[in-house]
Formats: sequence, C-alpha cells, structure tokens
Amino acid sequence: MDPLTRAAALVVPPHAPELASILHEVRAFCRARVDAARIDREARIDHDLLAAIAEQGWFGLTVPEAHGGIGLSLSSATEVIAELAAHDGSLGTCVGLHSGLAMHALLHEASPALRERYLPAIAAGRRVLAFAATEPNAGSDIASVRTTLTREGDVYRLRGTKCYVTNGGIAGLVTVLARSPGLGGARAGHTLVLVDPRWPGVQRGVEEKKLGLKGSSTITIDLDDVVVPDDHVLGSVSKGLEHAHHALEWGRTFMAAGCLGAARYAVDAAAAHVATRAQFGRPLIEFPLVRLSIAEMRAEVRAIERTLALVCAHDDLAIPSTVVKLLASEGAFRVVDRALQLFGGAGFIEDTGIARRLRDVRVTRIFEGANDVLRLSLASAALAWPIDTLTATHPELGATLSAVRRARGFRMFQDQVLQANLADAIVALFAATALAREEDDVDKLARGIQLERAREALQRAAAPADPEREALVARVAAR
Ligand SMILES: Cc1cc2nc3c(=O)[nH]c(=O)nc-3n(C[C@H](O)[C@H](O)[C@H](O)COP(=O)(O)OP(=O)(O)OC[C@H]3O[C@@H](n4cnc5c(N)ncnc54)[C@H](O)[C@@H]3O)c2cc1C
Repeated sequence: MDPLTRAAALVVPPHAPELASILHEVRAFCRARVDAARIDREARIDHDLLAAIAEQGWFGLTVPEAHGGIGLSLSSATEVIAELAAHDGSLGTCVGLHSGLAMHALLHEASPALRERYLPAIAAGRRVLAFAATEPNAGSDIASVRTTLTREGDVYRLRGTKCYVTNGGIAGLVTVLARSPGLGGARAGHTLVLVDPRWPGVQRGVEEKKLGLKGSSTITIDLDDVVVPDDHVLGSVSKGLEHAHHALEWGRTFMAAGCLGAARYAVDAAAAHVATRAQFGRPLIEFPLVRLSIAEMRAEVRAIERTLALVCAHDDLAIPSTVVKLLASEGAFRVVDRALQLFGGAGFIEDTGIARRLRDVRVTRIFEGANDVLRLSLASAALAWPIDTLTATHPELGATLSAVRRARGFRMFQDQVLQANLADAIVALFAATALAREEDDVDKLARGIQLERAREALQRAAAPADPEREALVARVAAR
C-alpha cells in the first residue's frame, strides 16, 4: 500500500495523560530559566542550565523507564521538544538531537549490556549524545564517507574526520558512521560505532561560528587510530547505512517538532504585535492583508501539528518522516519570515527576538538531509507506488503519476524538476490527509491551502516538457 493511503487509514491516538503536566513543567521552567537572547549572544548554553535540564530528567525523554528515563512515546517526546524549541531553538536542537537522531541506534541496535551500561547516565544527562555522519567531502551523499573502521588483530580501529557534529562539544557519547570494507563478509559496507570522546585518538575541534542556533554546539571531530571495543559496534557490522537511515528518520521527526515550536512562537508573537501596534489610526490586525497573513500563518502551524501527529502514529517512518521534515522546515521558515514582516522594522532589530528565530530556523532546510535531496528521494519512491490504490485516495496524483510514467518511462528518474514538483504535491496531500477531519475553522483553512498547493504542484509536474526553456536554463546555468 502506498504511504498516502496508509496515512489516510491511520488513527492518531490521543496524547498520554502525563504529557500535559510535563509540558506545563517545561513551560514554567523555560519562562523562569531560559534567556534565549543570552544563549544567542554568548553562543553557548550555560552549563548550569544544562545541569538544571538534566535534573528535570528531560535528557531521558525517550529513554525507557527501566533504564531511568521518562519513556515517552515518539508523539509525546516530540511535543516536549516543540515546547523547548518554542522557548529557544538551540535548546530544542540540543535536547531534540540527543533524544532523536543520536538516541535511535543506542535504543534499537545496541546490545542489552551496552544499553544497561550507558542509558541511565544518558537519561540523567551525564552523557549527552551526538551523531557524526557528515564529513568535509560527504554530506548529502552520506554513503561516500571516508572514515574507516578496520579490524587489526583483535581490535577495531577508527580513522577519519567528522564535521558539523551537533552537541559535539558537550557530548559524552558519539555515534559514528564509518565505511567498513571487508568487514562482516561484505566487500563494501558501513558500520555504526559508539565512541566515547575521552578515548585516546579522539580530538574535538573548536566551535563553528554559525548564522543561527548559535547556542547549539557544532564541531569537527578527528578520529586518529581510535581503538573501538567490539561491544561498541551498534547493530550489525556492514549494516551501518541502514541503521543510520532509521536514525535519520527518527531524527527528522524530532527536527520537525523543533520547527513546530519555532513556528508556534512566531505566530503568537506576531498576533500579539499586530493587536497592539496601530498605524493609520487603527491596530494592524484590522487591515485585511494583515488578517490574511495571521490566518495563513495559523493554518501553516496547524498543518505541521496535524501532520507531525499523524507521522508519529506510523510504524514505518521512512516516507512520513521525509514528508514532515519538508513540510515543517519550509512552513516554519515561511511563518517566521511573515512574522518578521508584520513586526516591520522592529522585526529586523535583534531585540525583538524574531530576527534570531529566522536565523535559527534557516538551517532546518539543510541539516538531516538537504530538502531538495529529500524531495528527490521522496519522488523516486512515489514513482514506484501502485497506481490503483493511490488513484482511489488521490485521483489527481494517481492520474499524474501514470501520465508521467507513460510519457517519460525511466527518463522520469532523471528529471529532477519533475520529481521536485511531485514531491511537493505528495507533501501537501499528506498534510491534507492529516487535516481531513476538519475539526475546526483552522483545520478547514489549512486543508484548503494544502489542497491548492498539491493541485498547483501537480499541474507543474504534468506540464509537457519545454525544450526551449530547458535549453535557456542550461545556457544561463553554464555561465
Ligand atoms: C548547524 C549544523 C548542524 C549539523 N549537525 C550534524 C550532525 O549532528 N551530524 C551530522 O552528521 N551532520 C550534521 N550536519 C550536516 C548536515 O546534515 C549536512 O550539512 C547536510 O546533510 C547537507 O550536506 P552538505 O552540507 O555537505 O551539502 P551538499 O551535499 O554539498 O549539498 C549542498 C546543496 O547542493 C544541492 N544538492 C546536493 N545534492 C544534490 C542532488 N543530488 N541533486 C540536486 N541538488 C543537490 C542541495 O541544494 C544542497 O542543499 C549539520 C550541519 C549544520 C549546518
């Protein structure tokens, strides 16, 4: 069954009853303790603040209770990350990456002994987690990493350089993706290993200076002949890429939650501003264009909320996590940008806090998979979906896909522009599915917007090739 049809059949379970009280605690804590402007100015999250968060147990959101964590479901844990991110993007990223991308392989691939050994300290915040896949020459093409895991005598050795490691400067454990030629009977292949940054040969670099998320630690890590004990291999030798993809699916879902938090903050701040700011003798909210902006921003936030909830109800996150990452990162950027516009000149001034939000949210379209690359993988998967079931739930998408297959055959896999349009349609249709119950006016508006986007994207996808225009584009790009 295609993921859109599956999504339509899923029921989103209600949140766990304990979630409301955790969210209340997080909100009260952040209001009292989190100074987002200071985090941004000092480009670090103060040690005392991290210690206080550890004390609250929030580094254990996704750690099972048996290992000292809170053991929240994916849906509840992402809501907590959204709340943290609404107060500060760097904080949301730090705890979100720890609980999501960097936690997944430990929870699902580590041996029971390794989990027993580390999870209590992780839940208590004594060991913050990081995940290191990217290298100077291996970003979107994650399979091309050059860091190597080899077997020498009776030990594993790790050599290479990882860059842009979130939480790297504060991490107590790092999951590293390495190529492992010849290991596990596979000629090529990759393996995930868990590395303690205090081991000999691990060298942390200095903090990167970034556009946003300045309080989130981002460093390079050199791995120089690091001896890795056998029991620190996560999952199967040579299956590391598969494990990393599952971790990224979880990670993208958490990242969407961070985007949701930023978008919620921005729309609330903008709504409060336009209610009090008066020009031409009237509060801004009385102008139709301002009302349209606020209503569409609220609809955008609602689409992310409902889609995230629906994604969390899935067992297989491969497609849904890509959909929600695209929807949330692009939707949050639009919402924060519109909020800045409604603040006028004040929005451009750092004191208002909106400028920082815009800087913070920008990277979500890049990390954990650059959006255009994710679009291509989403569309490639969709081109193989069974047309019959798809047509029953989404006739226009089904018709476009079969027309494209007939007209282009295998060449459609090479047409990135076509694939990007298809991906946009799929994201919008998935969101429209999540909003299908139309429980209130915001849902209704949000669903209408998503259906409109889907229709426009499908029209672009179905448009016949225009060789003249393509040649023009090629000539301009070649300059
Ligand atoms: C603040 C920050 C934190 C990060 N944290 C982590 C972390 O914790 N762990 C980790 O492993 N990595 C991390 N990263 C790395 C991040 O995941 C990569 O930057 C991202 O995957 C993109 O890779 P790249 O930067 O090498 O861009 P490239 O792969 O060079 O891509 C650049 C651009 O080229 C285009 N492009 C690339 N390939 C294609 C294609 N096939 N078709 C069409 N267009 C294409 C896209 O527009 C893309 O945005 C972080 C990065 C940042 C900035």
